[in-house]
Amino acid sequence: MGLFGFGKKKEKAKCPLCGAEIGFLSGKVLKDGSTICNGCESKLRLKYDEAVVNKTDALGNVQFKDNGYAKTTIVDDLSAITLDEARAAMDEINATSQALVGEIGGSYSNIFTAGKSGFVIAPKALDVGLPRSKKLKNATVVDGLVVEGEFNKDQDAVLIINGKEINVHIIEAHKKDVSAFETTLSANLKQGIKKGENGYLIISTEESVPEGATIAK
Ligand SMILES: [Zn+2]
Repeated sequence: MGLFGFGKKKEKAKCPLCGAEIGFLSGKVLKDGSTICNGCESKLRLKYDEAVVNKTDALGNVQFKDNGYAKTTIVDDLSAITLDEARAAMDEINATSQALVGEIGGSYSNIFTAGKSGFVIAPKALDVGLPRSKKLKNATVVDGLVVEGEFNKDQDAVLIINGKEINVHIIEAHKKDVSAFETTLSANLKQGIKKGENGYLIISTEESVPEGATIAK
């Protein structure tokens, strides 16, 4: 061992949930100080949101900066749970994913599970441009996780609710990040989400989409 310990190779941290190596400055720190890898973080986003919210004072009034913009902060539900809670949630997500693959994996190689109920949008032309505002009018946004394969814009798929299959069209597919949905939609930076990633599938359907619904193709 050298004078400053250079002779000894530093062991890389391993994710306590899946065993993957965690790179320097990556990973997500939980409430109890344990760090999980980015892949596990992405999966856990199915249940735990991260969002930019306005800062408020003790009375609930929004606080403003000198330039007139609201002060914001990030509220991350994942920072508020312990490793044990993360492990339990991950077991549940993996069990749901495996059950889905077992159930419909023979018929579909791309599978997405909804983490929340879908919501209907009618974005303004000012925010998304006229062509997209027409396409997206009254479309349903489904927030969830890609369990198998990948999803992209302009694809036909089926929506599965309680075993009933309904034909739908995926208008757009956006990867989820800390931004609010509206920001992701108007930024429209990159489309396409793949296995293990959380995202929004924007579909055309008359059905209301419940939490736990499946989209497959
Ligand atoms: Zn991991």
